[in-house]
Amino acid sequence: MEADVNYKLVKEITDKVEKKAKEQKVLDSFTPAEQILSILYSVLVEYVGTSEKLDLRGGNNFIILVGLQGNGKTTTAAKLGYYLKNKMHYNPILVPFDFKRPASFEQLIQLGKTNNIPYLDLRNETNIEKALSKIEPYMEQNNFNVAIIDTAGRKEIDASLMEELKLINDYFDKKETLMVMDVTIGQTALDIVKGFKEYLDITGGIFTKFDSSAKGGSVLSFRYVTGSPVKFVGTGEKIQDFEVFDGDALISRLVGRGDLKGLFEKAQEAISLEESEKITKDFESGKFDLNDLKVQLESILKMGGISKVFSMLPNFGNVKIPKEYADEKALRRMIAIINAMTKEERAHPEIINASRKERIARGTHVSKAEVNQLLKNFENFKKLSKNLKNLDLSRFKF
Ligand code: GDP
Ligand code: MG
Repeated sequence: MEADVNYKLVKEITDKVEKKAKEQKVLDSFTPAEQILSILYSVLVEYVGTSEKLDLRGGNNFIILVGLQGNGKTTTAAKLGYYLKNKMHYNPILVPFDFKRPASFEQLIQLGKTNNIPYLDLRNETNIEKALSKIEPYMEQNNFNVAIIDTAGRKEIDASLMEELKLINDYFDKKETLMVMDVTIGQTALDIVKGFKEYLDITGGIFTKFDSSAKGGSVLSFRYVTGSPVKFVGTGEKIQDFEVFDGDALISRLVGRGDLKGLFEKAQEAISLEESEKITKDFESGKFDLNDLKVQLESILKMGGISKVFSMLPNFGNVKIPKEYADEKALRRMIAIINAMTKEERAHPEIINASRKERIARGTHVSKAEVNQLLKNFENFKKLSKNLKNLDLSRFKF
């Protein structure tokens, strides 16, 4: 809440963190605070999103910038033009389109002149649709491929403004409609975004004034309402103060702690390692049932293949692993078969008789032979517990 995240979202996020924390084992190699932070990171990733490129294709592209007055639309139009021209090597053209405020034409045209970005001056047009119809032919004639349209803003959302923006939004087929928002806007962001979303297909956001001390909670409100990615951030008043959005940097800013992604990745490794160690212990003590096999198969999937798992188990270091054990589909099928069993069957596989096998096979849509194969593999795994060092994986079939 200190980072201006809307209170409803804060509640949702903390509930998710709590749920995940309860499901996760306590890690010996992490402090509780670190473990909670790594869980918080994994939840925030969903809310913040990752960076996504502009959807620009061959032919003519239209980028419509919308937002409340004073949030930085005009400045952003010029910054985006500069970025597309000098960094991405497009041929952009700036199109001031705020007919209510002649000064805004002057402002964008001035920015275009200073920074050598072409512009199209339509201020003498009297009709919005007529003005719109001039843009594409002008691009065709002059070889421009991206039009950046700087629309009118108001101090607050009003219906006549929205109707005008909707007209512009609906006029173009291939377009990006980007909402420009001042990151310092705080808690009110949620309602403002809702207001725009009601009329327009918002495809992304640009947040300005990231050079302020605001933590950035409004980004979460934007993502929450639109489901669209934030694409850029403005980081100052100069034309080059403009960056591709970085979700991890925002999360660190929200939480007030650096490199949470690194912490999260280390925690994931520790979880995998501790799980493998537990399985080794179970192996060695001879206590190994189908539940353990399932945990093991799931962690194999999570860790990206069986070779990785065995390389982490101290006693399995030199084992040669046949290729087919890396088959993800086979692993998933085995897990599905175990899932179709009852709790009792998993703990005491010896009770699985012919009719139970048939039921399990039917429940999983596999043949009875496959259920048998799984049980045979399980028996082999179990026998191994006494003789880990002589493991011969060629005895298994998946
Ligand atoms: P518009 O009314 O939405 O078109 O907003 P303007 O582009 O005119 O910007 C309003 C004010 O915000 C201007 O003084 C800009 O210089 C300033 N501004 C825009 N983006 C940024 C930014 O990223 N950082 C800072 N510090 N100021 C910005
Ligand atoms: Mg403006």
